[in-house]
Amino acid sequence: MEITQGARTPSGPAGAATRVRWVSVPASERREGLKAVWQQASTCQRCPQLASTRNTVVFGSGNADADLMFVGEAPGAREDERGLPFVGQAGRLLDTLLEEIGLSRGDVFIANVLKCRPPGNRDPLPQEIDNCQDYLFRQLELIEPRVICSLGNFSTKLLRGEPTGITRLHGREEIRTVGPRTLRLYPIYHPAAALYTPAMLETLRTDFARLPELLALDVPPQPEPEEAEPAVPEPELVTVPAQAPDPEPEDPQLGLF
Ligand code: URA
Repeated sequence: MEITQGARTPSGPAGAATRVRWVSVPASERREGLKAVWQQASTCQRCPQLASTRNTVVFGSGNADADLMFVGEAPGAREDERGLPFVGQAGRLLDTLLEEIGLSRGDVFIANVLKCRPPGNRDPLPQEIDNCQDYLFRQLELIEPRVICSLGNFSTKLLRGEPTGITRLHGREEIRTVGPRTLRLYPIYHPAAALYTPAMLETLRTDFARLPELLALDVPPQPEPEEAEPAVPEPELVTVPAQAPDPEPEDPQLGLF
């Protein structure tokens, strides 16, 4: 995991004018919370098969105080080796698309529905999604993005809580309440799907180009606290064994946290 301290440029991401933030908890506290969730996730045994085949838990990386968060599907082989999301071919495309809208990885946070690689890059199983979703919802709650960009079917279905597929939804932003916050959810095609299909790549590029505009919009009205959905419960505390990774910076996954 690489997560930066959340240093925002005064004008924010490309195209973002002065904006009202909804931050309720200081960024430094939320970052500490994120590190605690990462520690819990890093020894997770909820999916016995994934826990026994993974090399690393790929928690996510980027700016812990990002306005924009991407949610992909699951780590692949490269991600599993390096402990970072989107570092293979699809990741290079994601980097290019970000660059085209004036952003870099340090401006955003990137995570996945599953934190462990499914063997052979098979699709995530419903039970695995269920087991892992607390970590994602805790990430969303702590990072407080104003726009979540779901990449492909798995993250779109999970975050919308509905089975409608990405082909019908891509490029259409919606205001959604996710956990305690109302934000803009923006489904787009998964970069891996666009790698070998020029028409899909064009669509992805067109959809991506709208992100600065979405980031510049006002924060949607927030639910009254009593109407808000209950906060996502803390993931179960995992007993941290003596050999648990040290949360301090020498761990490579904490480099950019
Ligand atoms: N595809 C994903 O969905 N996530 C990654 O991290 C890499 C490829």
